[in-house]
Amino acid sequence: MKKAWTGAQIRQSFIDFFITRGHTFVPSSSLVPGGDQTLLFTNAGMVQFKDVFLGTDIRPYKRAVNSQKCMRVAGKHNDLDDVGRDDIHHTFFEMLGNWSFGDYYKKEAIAWAWELLTGVWGIDKASLWTTCFKDDKGDIPTDEEAAENWRKQPGINLEHILYFGRKENFWEMADTGPCGPCSEIHVDRGLEFCDRQDVPGHVCKVNGDCHRFVEIWNLVFIQYNRLSLTDLQPLPATHVDTGMGLDRIVSIMQGVNSNYRTDLLMPLIETVQRLTKDSDAQRDLNFTPYRVIADHTRACTFLIADGVVPGNIGRNYVCRMIIRRASRFGLKLGLKEPFLAQVAATVIDHYGDAYPELKRNRATILDNLTREEKRFQRTVDAGLGYLDELLAVLKSQNTGVLDGRLAFNLYATLGLPFELTRDVAREQGLEVDEAGFRKAMELHRLASGAGKAFGALGGEDVDIYRNIVQNLVNQNKLGHSGVAYDPYSTLEVEGRVLAIVKDGVSVQDAEEGDRVEIILPKTCFYVESGGQVSDTGTITSYAGSGWEVQVEDTRRPAAGAIVHIGVVVRGQPQVDDPVVAQVDAGRRRDIMRNHTATHLLHAELHAILGDHARQAGSLVAPDRLRFDFTHPEAVTPEQLEQIEAGVNRDILGNHRLKIVVKPLQQAISEGAMALFGEKYGEMVRTISIGDQDPFSYELCGGTHVRETGDIGLFLITSEGSAAAGVRRIEAVTGRGAYELVQKRMRSLKQAAGLLSSQLEDLPAKTQSLLDELERERKQSFKLRQALVAAEFGQLLDSTPSVKGVPVLAAVLQNADSETLRQMCDRFRQKFSSGVVVLGSAVEGHPVLIAAVTDDLIKRGILASEIVKTIAQVVGGSGGGRPNLAQAGGKDPTRLQEAIDQVIPLVEKKL
Ligand SMILES: [Zn+2]
Ligand SMILES: [Zn+2]
Repeated sequence: MKKAWTGAQIRQSFIDFFITRGHTFVPSSSLVPGGDQTLLFTNAGMVQFKDVFLGTDIRPYKRAVNSQKCMRVAGKHNDLDDVGRDDIHHTFFEMLGNWSFGDYYKKEAIAWAWELLTGVWGIDKASLWTTCFKDDKGDIPTDEEAAENWRKQPGINLEHILYFGRKENFWEMADTGPCGPCSEIHVDRGLEFCDRQDVPGHVCKVNGDCHRFVEIWNLVFIQYNRLSLTDLQPLPATHVDTGMGLDRIVSIMQGVNSNYRTDLLMPLIETVQRLTKDSDAQRDLNFTPYRVIADHTRACTFLIADGVVPGNIGRNYVCRMIIRRASRFGLKLGLKEPFLAQVAATVIDHYGDAYPELKRNRATILDNLTREEKRFQRTVDAGLGYLDELLAVLKSQNTGVLDGRLAFNLYATLGLPFELTRDVAREQGLEVDEAGFRKAMELHRLASGAGKAFGALGGEDVDIYRNIVQNLVNQNKLGHSGVAYDPYSTLEVEGRVLAIVKDGVSVQDAEEGDRVEIILPKTCFYVESGGQVSDTGTITSYAGSGWEVQVEDTRRPAAGAIVHIGVVVRGQPQVDDPVVAQVDAGRRRDIMRNHTATHLLHAELHAILGDHARQAGSLVAPDRLRFDFTHPEAVTPEQLEQIEAGVNRDILGNHRLKIVVKPLQQAISEGAMALFGEKYGEMVRTISIGDQDPFSYELCGGTHVRETGDIGLFLITSEGSAAAGVRRIEAVTGRGAYELVQKRMRSLKQAAGLLSSQLEDLPAKTQSLLDELERERKQSFKLRQALVAAEFGQLLDSTPSVKGVPVLAAVLQNADSETLRQMCDRFRQKFSSGVVVLGSAVEGHPVLIAAVTDDLIKRGILASEIVKTIAQVVGGSGGGRPNLAQAGGKDPTRLQEAIDQVIPLVEKKL
């Protein structure tokens, strides 16, 4: 009955089916959500379209189809607990989806879903069930429109159309915002898939508790905007958002009882099996480790390709945690050497065509995995051994839960991630206090100054700007796409003021001193993006007596709206006044030099360090540039020198920049570098540098110099660590570089003047001065110790006697502890029986030394005891042997006081 579809064919046929129905294929966005700090990972297909639904982003298409990379390991959607235990949960998965943005609705979405499943894929109509929304609270209307459309599908069993309430069939993005009913499609896999047949009273059903009925596709119909708990308003435009997990549909079409036995995951399991040399039967008896390793390796392969390398916090922690978890399950299979790279190679081979980023980052992926496994192996034995001891203690105390702080210590000192500790505990029937662990981790993070991993988003009212733009469009004062944006071709534009916003309200005019936001029909001011900061400048008008606004910032608060933010420095701006808007040209040219230099730096990092050195963040400001990139260790001074030299060579080459706008797919397939965490539209701007054979080719919306020679000079000012596995380089160009050179030359000249030297001779001259200083130091030390010896000689000759025993207690000026010991020896050479205690301040710290001859030890006089007692006076402590002991302290001014205690102390003992 079924054709033998491969997983790759199923993915591609879904995409092709919707492309032929007018959809644009939108490639998966990164696992790291662009511009959304509230989300650790992209966890659904809709993440990259969220702004379209919220109305802050406009796309050139109204129908889209995609296969989105998703991760669910943290937060609300956390599947990690189930991964490995069953056959259907994954940390990483692909979500197939088709989308309508204010275009087609339920009729088409339902008909196409039915056609694809039954017509194209040949799934038995009798096995399909669908569900529609009927409010269990009775407030929201029943989705009869969806039900009616289902009834029209050819060959559908009318009794298979069911209704469910809010939990199953109503979708909401958040507490407020776009929402709507959904319709799900379930497959009845037959009684043999029921895993609860022996449970008394069990009935197999849709949304039931056994594995016979499986949900395969969710069609969400967005038609409301929720303003509050009770207030639901219809949306002017309705949308469709659907989601289908690829692993699941493949398992159904391939007729296997586990997602792990599809041709998507089975090759990974077979790679592990080749390493363990298990037979198929042995493997199936012990399938859990195989599942965990296959799932986790697939996940971290995709993560590293998106720039998330193993580390200590946030996303990097997740990457580290799943690698270590997989590694430990490898140990259970007897795999003691690093092996994940071999499994990852299989992932890349099987997924590389659909996700080319895997192929491009092959070396980085394999290298990071092996490196992390080795790191883990250094501590895992100690960690697991210690954990076993802790758990044994718990069991002996009949306690069921391991303290979260102990679990955190295991992580911080022995590298056992929480999830792994919990795995081990659960295998022994125990639990770990997760809240306590998180608390300890947070405290540690704050104490180490790292701050919170993820801050909250600033809430912003986009409605006012959306309304302003909408009104201007309705009055034909603005085109459909809003304010015209062209920061590339000019630094000055003319136009009339379209709107003024003051204190969050649209106003007709403003006064001198007011802080305002001004909207013009077009602008040449750059709006911060891709690391490049916004432009500043002026808006001036000759209307009336004239006015001027000093523009300090620009931003885009809603789709089509660009505002110039600044202070009225002169006059009274009014809506409709004619103006000239001018970018601060000198500042902008500094920015352009730094931006182009950033691209050159990126290219040189690849050339010198390797292709793994990918951009992980950047700042392009007028006075400097900052560039973060993935690299596991510090860049050596020699490498830095090579990189700096390379960039300056590229500058002197005076290459013309080639800037072309082209389709995203074309640019990517030509090898243009895209940045992870960045969102791209259909058409992208590409910057290539290097005449015949470009050495730099990036997607970039920033502003650039015409020729690299315009940059002038490039100097690296620092290199350091930015985060786990991420390095940071800061540099200056053009004016900034010249100022730096000037400043350093000035210091050099000053130093040369002080040393009466030529600039070129400074190092040799400085070295000879340092040598001379060192010689003088040694000389003066020798002299000082000779003085001490002479002084001590006098003291020795006048050593007092206490009850017939010679006792010498004295403070010596400027003696180091070595000299003090030598003096003690001299005392013992002169007196066969006696006590000597000497003190001195060594570099500001008090030192006390005592020596006692053997005969007096027998009489109860111990050097260690004397030192311990008198050291208290100088705020210190110490010890040693009975015949020789030493102590330090804090307060050198009380040395004499300490020494004065010696004679009474000895007297008492004699
Ligand atoms: Zn059942
Ligand atoms: Zn750029």
